[in-house]
Amino acid sequence: MAVKRVYTFGNGEAEGKADMKNLLGGKGANLAEMNLIGVPVPPGFTITTDVCSEYNDLGRDKVLELLKSEIEESITKIENLTQTNFGDKNNPLLVSVRSGARASMPGMMDTVLNLGLNEDSVAGIAKKSGNERFAWDSYRRFVQMYGDVVLGMKPVSKEEIDPFEKIMEDVKLEKGVDLDTDLDVSDLKELVVLFKEAVKEQTGQGFPESAWEQLWGAILAVFDSWNNDRAILYRRMEGIPDEWGTAVNVQAMVYGNMGDDSATGVAFTRDAGTGENMFNGEYLINAQGEDVVAGIRTPQQITKEGSIRWAKLQDILEEDRVMMYPSLEEAMPEVFEELNAVQKKLEMHYKDMQDLEFTVQDKKLWLLQTRNGKRTGAAMVKIAMDLYREGIIDDKLALMRVEANKLDELLHPVFDMKAIGSANELAKGLPASPGAASGQIIFFADEANKYENTILVRIETSPEDLEGMLIAKGILTARGGMTSHAAVVARGMGKCCVSGAGALKIDYKERTLRIGSDIYREGDWISLNGSSGKVYAGQVKTRMPDLDGDFASIMDFASKYTRMSVRTNADTPKDAKVARGFGAEGIGLCRTEHMFFEGERIKTVREMILSSDEEGRRNALAKLLPYQKSDFEGILEAMQGYGVTIRLLDPPLHEFVPHTEAAQQEMAKEMGISLAEVKTKVSDLSEFNPMLGHRGCRLGNTYPEITEMQARAIVEAAIALKKRGVITKPEIMVPLIGTVEEFKMQSDIINKTAKTVFEETGDTIEYMVGTMIEIPRAALTADKVAEFAEFFSFGTNDLTQMTFGYSRDDANKFLPIYIEKGILKNDPFQVLDQTGVGQLVEMGTKKGRSAKPGLKVGICGEHGGEPSSVGFCNSVGMDYVSCSPYRVPIARVAAAQAHILSED
Ligand code: ADP
Ligand code: MG
Ligand code: MG
Repeated sequence: MAVKRVYTFGNGEAEGKADMKNLLGGKGANLAEMNLIGVPVPPGFTITTDVCSEYNDLGRDKVLELLKSEIEESITKIENLTQTNFGDKNNPLLVSVRSGARASMPGMMDTVLNLGLNEDSVAGIAKKSGNERFAWDSYRRFVQMYGDVVLGMKPVSKEEIDPFEKIMEDVKLEKGVDLDTDLDVSDLKELVVLFKEAVKEQTGQGFPESAWEQLWGAILAVFDSWNNDRAILYRRMEGIPDEWGTAVNVQAMVYGNMGDDSATGVAFTRDAGTGENMFNGEYLINAQGEDVVAGIRTPQQITKEGSIRWAKLQDILEEDRVMMYPSLEEAMPEVFEELNAVQKKLEMHYKDMQDLEFTVQDKKLWLLQTRNGKRTGAAMVKIAMDLYREGIIDDKLALMRVEANKLDELLHPVFDMKAIGSANELAKGLPASPGAASGQIIFFADEANKYENTILVRIETSPEDLEGMLIAKGILTARGGMTSHAAVVARGMGKCCVSGAGALKIDYKERTLRIGSDIYREGDWISLNGSSGKVYAGQVKTRMPDLDGDFASIMDFASKYTRMSVRTNADTPKDAKVARGFGAEGIGLCRTEHMFFEGERIKTVREMILSSDEEGRRNALAKLLPYQKSDFEGILEAMQGYGVTIRLLDPPLHEFVPHTEAAQQEMAKEMGISLAEVKTKVSDLSEFNPMLGHRGCRLGNTYPEITEMQARAIVEAAIALKKRGVITKPEIMVPLIGTVEEFKMQSDIINKTAKTVFEETGDTIEYMVGTMIEIPRAALTADKVAEFAEFFSFGTNDLTQMTFGYSRDDANKFLPIYIEKGILKNDPFQVLDQTGVGQLVEMGTKKGRSAKPGLKVGICGEHGGEPSSVGFCNSVGMDYVSCSPYRVPIARVAAAQAHILSED
């Protein structure tokens, strides 16, 4: 059968329908669907998205040939339905040519209205409608849009305004009028002449008079608009594949610019900002197309209630509102009733909040578009729950309606919208950790207490800065990506962070922050929006978000439908409690080294590291033991009996030693050795590739006493808790193994230590010993490892680093470029690379379970809080995912959604 490239709709019939979005684009599929359910839509047809690909592959001539007969037939259909003729002088059919991709890309691509007009048919339209002004207004709009979209009439430089706008401004000035609607027929005629002259001058092309030539030009221009800069950028941001392409919709025109009984507008069936169940929107009388959003005239509200609210905010008196800005409900009551009925019908039909575009021609209502409306995180949750309570959707569907990532917006303090509008934006970085923070600038972590509210401003952060990061209200870095130290730690803390703000020039010596020609000093106030990556001058007002009942209900649905459980990555009892509050069931990763930096402990840690023999190390470790034990008690207790995975010491020791001479001096004094000795030791510890160096289980295998101390602290903590009636089951995790022998040696030490502690205390506890799978070799030999390990936890940060061979600390130099060039679709440190790294995860899980059926498997990399990666973890059969506390709700929803999808 021949390929069908064109789908028609009109008069209550359609060849397409709503679920054909991939082929017809969202707009085309919904135009068809609206016809089928009896909503008034002007007739037309949709050229498929496949043709866009054909056009890109085969070129224009071939595509024109392929389309010709189908388009001619489809135009004839419209002619018959509208009783007009395309290209006719006296009774011409005019059409719009509209873009429309699978995913909505509002305003990113192009549309041409009133196509089919020329010097002759404009007179025909004038005569037929008896409205010469309307005919010429349509014609000038057509020449303007066609000139822009098809003939490439753009501003010559970015300082320049649009060439047509410029001409309009000049003519208005000359006639002494303010509004487009004040231009009369002769003005409009003059505009058409001037527009055409400008086109000729700038592009060297004459303006096409033939309707068919116009149509083909516009269709191809819409295909071309798929690859304009705006559209490409939008696709990058939203993760829309370049291959999808756009459909083209050709549709009979209806006219909102026919006079005072005509209008055009946009509407939402519910409030997209708050979710409130209130029909709302804006319209303009005697207007066309995008006039409402273009801001040329002040748009009016659709409902009376909305109009009254609006007037209040605008300080407009009620009598002025009624006179000058009446609502559609007041100005055209019958049309409003019909529109109101249509909006209800569409929402019921799609079972979701709709975003509508409509036009009124001579008091007759036409719908031109409907789609599921974009909305804030708060509105998303409220609308889903309202629809559920109204009985329109069930709990499963309500849960599926939640875009997991958007929940983030609900969990952090937010800026007051009004305040942000008037704030002075200084710079932009990555939205590394959402939320809002204001504080006084400090440049050094150990000065985080200098003021009551501080923002730590660093070129980048390091583990040494941890305590300061905890105290500061927000973190701003000049360097580093979404998985930089600052970003990861901040997300873990639920602390607002903007990272990689390249425009910042930080001078630690002078304690200044330079942005362009402005200088900010220590103590100056700045504000960070971690949700947008924007940095503002001064103190912008914030407020706490309300996690009301709707949020909790969505979380209940998630618990009901999930198969996997969600744990948290937490290093402190405080984090553990926060995560419990969000419904985390256990800790998937407790990094013991984070406890090493706190307060006085770092000195003892350094003493251990700098000791030249085992005895010295053991002495220092003995001092650390009580600290570790009490930390573990705190964390185990906070998790109320849920599993807690504690990872043994992992980072290279060099991260802990003092790097400044003053600190080295202090250390030398403390340990009673010379400064020179300290220096030698520090330089001995430095490595070329620390991430591939002396770290992970390699530490415990070369210095078994470290593992001994940590194992002892864990077991003693659990026994102490048991005495107080708190039953726990610690899961001791060996990091960075590549061979089963590496694991065995560690687990032997752990088991031996546990046995000793049991004997000493005369008591026992249950515990497990397992390992991280984060080196490719460990995944490849997972069956061997699983003979001895009691659980696996995929450390996908390191696994990604080692599978790609990208250093996480250096990748920011090339990853953004790789993504821009399309070499990579995503940052693999944020979104798990299912094709490559995923194979290792899947294989590791299968092999592990082949040796030990029922082996407990989870993930503890950053990916554990990223929805698509969580879905992947579900598909390979993991038992749980683990993520930072503030991502727990996101992971819970993503896990439940993945399970629902897998069952369908
Ligand atoms: P976008 O995808 O940017 O929203 P559209 O294709 O929806 O672009 O077109 C923009 C506007 O043009 C529509 O909202 C509508 O007001 C107007 N428009 C499009 N087609 C027609 C038509 N056939 N008759 C009247 N107005 C139209
Ligand atoms: Mg639109
Ligand atoms: Mg690791």
